[in-house]
Amino acid sequence: MKSFGHFIAGEWIEPDGDNWIDSINPATGRAWCRIGRGFQIEADAAVAAADSAYRAGPWATATAERRADLLHGLADILESDWEALVEAEVNDNGKRVAEVRAQFSGLHIWYRYFADQMLKIAPMPLQNDVPGVENTAEFVPFGVVVAITPWNSPLMIAAWKLAPALAAGNTVVIKPSELASASTLEFARLVSRSDLPAGVINVVTGFGGEIGEALVRHEKTRLVTFTGSDTGGSKVAEAAARGVKPVTLELGGKSPQVVFADADLDNTINGVLSGIFLSNGQTCVAGSRLIVHRSVHDELVGRLVASARDLKIGSPMDARTEIAPLANEPHLKKVLSMIAEARQEGARCVCGGEQIFPDDCKDGFYVAPTIFADVTPAMSLWRDEVFGPVLAVTPFDTEDEAIGLANDSQYGLAAGIWTADVARARRVAGRIEAGTVYINHYRSVSPGSPIGGFKRSGYGRELGPDAVKDFMQVKSVWIGTAPCADPFPRDAG
Ligand code: NAD
Repeated sequence: MKSFGHFIAGEWIEPDGDNWIDSINPATGRAWCRIGRGFQIEADAAVAAADSAYRAGPWATATAERRADLLHGLADILESDWEALVEAEVNDNGKRVAEVRAQFSGLHIWYRYFADQMLKIAPMPLQNDVPGVENTAEFVPFGVVVAITPWNSPLMIAAWKLAPALAAGNTVVIKPSELASASTLEFARLVSRSDLPAGVINVVTGFGGEIGEALVRHEKTRLVTFTGSDTGGSKVAEAAARGVKPVTLELGGKSPQVVFADADLDNTINGVLSGIFLSNGQTCVAGSRLIVHRSVHDELVGRLVASARDLKIGSPMDARTEIAPLANEPHLKKVLSMIAEARQEGARCVCGGEQIFPDDCKDGFYVAPTIFADVTPAMSLWRDEVFGPVLAVTPFDTEDEAIGLANDSQYGLAAGIWTADVARARRVAGRIEAGTVYINHYRSVSPGSPIGGFKRSGYGRELGPDAVKDFMQVKSVWIGTAPCADPFPRDAG
């Protein structure tokens, strides 16, 4: 079985005390590789490596142009060799090979975009009313950034953090999910072929409550960027607050899709299906609450059910597969128990709602694409994130009612609006509490567009034109251009 140690200061380090975690392939239910289970000792080594690369050596003195050049060098390697990363991700989290290929063939783009964005950042002359003094705002890095990532899209989410953090001049320790670390470790192999100095990117693995917490608490960690559940995020924020460290939290969602009577239903169906069944609903922006005008409710639900029943379920390595396994066994159990609870609470299951055992992956962690109608805001299926292929549907009559339903959530990550009426779309978009609103469209992400949450979906933003500055702090520099006045002038006599 393949083994991955920790990647620290450009070296592969065996886990201390021979501590390993088996990584289970969700399509087969069997261990396919093992990763290091890190503790304080590995956290200390990784942060020390990142700190020393930040303070001394070629990275410490690299200009923004040089850093951009080094990131483009890494992007060149990713662009030509991304195929080497695919198998690890599919084996680890069961994502369909077609989706992984689509994500990885574009990984280099995130690195190139933020390398170029850095070149637009310049010191800013500041107005001041002090005579004989010039004042400038300079943007400087923080130092060691700890990046904690979830299991659903480990490498794409790592790129969202790494690329702007490095462009800004920081060094990074990445801690991927203990449930899917292999692709980040394979990525580290590509990093070691690049010209990035040792210690600029480090990857350590293990459980959140062990090495994850040790990294966040470490006195030399200066900033934490976290993507994961709201439970994990609030623990990380609490630990970071004790050390007075800034944190960005990209957390869960329960995103509404609001369909008005005049919506183009063919287009809407594509958007709703992609929102909830691509990646098996295991995406933060999964459009998991469908709020439909009563006049089109039955037709839309009927057509969604027909499409969902037709999806091809099978091995994630088969390019024709449309529904792959859930990412791990604890998650399978959680999704099945949420389906059972929805039934108990009176929601009407109109599609799926059960575990399945496809011929080519009988021991895999599969759930049929599931749709529940008659879901009310009191039900847990309305309130809690499933992070799986389960859609909750409810009808509405008026625009105000639709907005009220959309905002009736502790989360506020994304929302979809489907209507032919542009004025209404803009009006509703303005009132929806979400960090991203899609109109007659769903799911796109792009380096230039900020992503992040309202309410319990987190704070801070990733991506977008300010992402590099989010990894920098402002230093106000004052330069005297005239002699300092005597602070205690006395009369000559
Ligand atoms: P999780 O919170 O269980 O784990 C995420 C990461 O945090 C893992 O690496 C884990 O080891 C680490 N971690 C957990 N507790 C920690 C602690 N106390 N200290 C330090 N590290 C800790 O989340 P998950 O199950 O891996 O991911 C699924 C969640 O991620 C979902 O809620 C999903 O919506 C969210 N997500 C959000 C976005 C976004 O951009 N908003 C993107 C993808 C996933």
